[in-house]
Amino acid sequence: MKIIFFSAKPYDQQFFTEVNQGFKFEINFLEAHLNSKTAVLAQGYDVVCVFVNDAVTSEVLQVLASQGVKLLALRCAGFNNVDLKAARTLGIKVVRVPAYSPYAVAEHTLALILTLNRKTHRAYNRVKEGNFALNGLLGFDLHGKTAGLIGLGKIGLATARILKGFGCRVFGYDVAEPAEASSIGIEFTTLDQLYAQSDIISLHCPLTPETHHLINAGSIAKMKKGVMLINTSRGALIYTPAVIQGLKKEHISYLGLDVYEEEGDLFFEDLSDQVIQDDVFMRLLSFNNVLITGHQAFLTSNALQKIAETTLQNILDFKNLNPENHLELANEVK
Ligand code: NAD
Repeated sequence: MKIIFFSAKPYDQQFFTEVNQGFKFEINFLEAHLNSKTAVLAQGYDVVCVFVNDAVTSEVLQVLASQGVKLLALRCAGFNNVDLKAARTLGIKVVRVPAYSPYAVAEHTLALILTLNRKTHRAYNRVKEGNFALNGLLGFDLHGKTAGLIGLGKIGLATARILKGFGCRVFGYDVAEPAEASSIGIEFTTLDQLYAQSDIISLHCPLTPETHHLINAGSIAKMKKGVMLINTSRGALIYTPAVIQGLKKEHISYLGLDVYEEEGDLFFEDLSDQVIQDDVFMRLLSFNNVLITGHQAFLTSNALQKIAETTLQNILDFKNLNPENHLELANEVK
């Protein structure tokens, strides 16, 4: 099997090269994103491996199919960037890594909450400059606060367990209540109740047509004044202009983001020598109660190891697929 990687970073190359010693696939790593211009680079490959910001549109899939590509291997959990209908029509199978380390994302969620609250990022800079004043660094005890988690899958539940350890009351909302929720101590509730009662709201649901712009002017109006809003899931869960209004009116007092709706033009690249053209993003950066990381919640060595193992196993399963036995691919997205 010949595999071509798009959007490959040095850390991808390191972990995939090591894990591939046990699989012996022929791999080529490209830094370029997959798009309608770069899709031709997949000529001669059986498998295309992509990440979260590769836009796998119908147009791109048509180019891949015409070159004989049979499998699209996502080295991530989310698949909102793939036109699944087009893939199905063109006979390209799609696989993903449904679980690698929920702890990586849950722990990053806590990093955002704790940093926004105790302002350690500002304290670090102050102390470096010999400024030991505490004005402006006031925080609150997490113990006793109410956190509301939207989406109680692997990451939502891992986040709930950590928050319970801090002594928080945890409300949860999902389309269905998971069996573990009550034993963890999560109070399953409605979205409106979660908005009304939570001091901290954290998003852990996938991006779907139903959750697109879930956080908008209407939902923000239902939240407590002074709420902390955290998004480590997908950028388009939030309608950013509404959140900016919420910050300006001081209805939202803290915003922590690891994802951003238009991150495809920004994240994972060093743009420090360029003028950033996204005015909405720059407005977000201008608030001192907004903390943004560039989609790094997954970035732990444990997660990268598991991503590489599962992705290459997915490809091996595809290679061994025998249509006569009607075998299913374990991590196929349909
Ligand atoms: P998961 O599939 O285990 O859980 C998602 C949960 O969301 C499920 O319980 C599902 O029922 C629920 N859900 C679906 N639609 C919903 C809705 N309309 N309202 C409320 N809940 C709904 O997924 P996971 O592993 O917990 O990951 C959650 C999300 O985190 C992923 O979809 C992905 O977008 C994001 N993620 C981000 C990073 C990162 O690096 N920032 C890394 C991995 C995953």
